[in-house]
Amino acid sequence: MMIACYTLCMKLTLQLKLLPTPTQHAALRETMRLCNEAATYAAAKGFAAGVYGQVSLHHLAYYEIRERFGLSSQLAVRAIAKAVECFQRDKTVCPVFRPDGAVCYDQRVLSFHGLNSASLWAIGGRIEVPFVCGPYQQERQGRIHGQADLVLRDGVFYLLCTIDMPAETPLDPQDVLGVDLGVINLATTSDGTTHSGAGVEACRTRYAKRRQQLQRAAQRAQMDGKRPKQIRVALRRIARKEAGFRRDVNHGISKTLVAVAKGTDRCIALEDLKDIRRRTRFRKPQRARMTGWAFAQLRSFVEYKAQRAGVPVVLVDPRHTSQDCNRCGHVERANRQSQARFSCQQCGYTTNTDFNAANNIRDRARVKVPLVADPLRQLRLPLADASYKPPASAGGT
Ligand SMILES: [Zn+2]
Repeated sequence: MMIACYTLCMKLTLQLKLLPTPTQHAALRETMRLCNEAATYAAAKGFAAGVYGQVSLHHLAYYEIRERFGLSSQLAVRAIAKAVECFQRDKTVCPVFRPDGAVCYDQRVLSFHGLNSASLWAIGGRIEVPFVCGPYQQERQGRIHGQADLVLRDGVFYLLCTIDMPAETPLDPQDVLGVDLGVINLATTSDGTTHSGAGVEACRTRYAKRRQQLQRAAQRAQMDGKRPKQIRVALRRIARKEAGFRRDVNHGISKTLVAVAKGTDRCIALEDLKDIRRRTRFRKPQRARMTGWAFAQLRSFVEYKAQRAGVPVVLVDPRHTSQDCNRCGHVERANRQSQARFSCQQCGYTTNTDFNAANNIRDRARVKVPLVADPLRQLRLPLADASYKPPASAGGT
């Protein structure tokens, strides 16, 4: 008899913030610039000769690149690979790489010494660069192997390392935690917990205003024939800050949701949004935001954190989750009286729309998944609480 045995593993990215001395910083910057210049050079050479493969381009450009740019053999190979990767996507244009584009380091040019410094190959010799290492990084550092990307953001160097994290053995769910993801409320659970989107919206409005001011300034500068580089840099920084804020919020919410589900032996149910256009639930401007990256990010955070914690995720049919009465099953558009208020036209059940939707999501998953051997269990599960009042938003968001 054959026994299938495998460990679930998942790839995560560990970000290490480097703390180089000014001299090391300059050396890294110079290395980065040369690597990208070498990649651009390799691309130009390949493009001119009609050579697009790693091996053939290697024959054509490797020695020249090593001589011309003074790169280590490994970084020369990676520069060629960078050009080849671009050609794999599109052979009709000759790529030009930004001087501060990411550089891929593998174990031949990067190694870790102890818990808080890395040795990197740089122009002028290897350098030993310390990095910030909190408990999160320390716990995972042993799992770094293979390669890392050296990136430069706002003048700060980071190493982005790929790590394999073993996922926990999936738990045997005893019940379902229904989660409704949205815009006004980022997440509402069938337990009645709400994570409001007000904080995110306030942040977005604040940054949108600042962005508008900058864009006007940029237009004025352009009319004067200037290239407003500082403004572009400021705009990029704003976009990054906003994204960072939203990412923190999403991390917080997804962490809480998974912890609650795990702590109560439940799986998580989400709407299956593969075919989002089928949904009638959102008006147009909202629909654009529902398909946006931030919304997708919260979903993906919930999914990967759940997988890591061994919490199964069930996807259910999203149709009419907000119009379907969780008490009597009556579906009618008028049931949803406003963004927040649900009131069943048939049985009079009145509650918060998102809470009703979260309960529908939970119940659809209960039908879908055979939770426990006892078939009567589903019938004994308590019904949604009619006296539900939306609680103060959780998580301070
Ligand atoms: Zn009803």
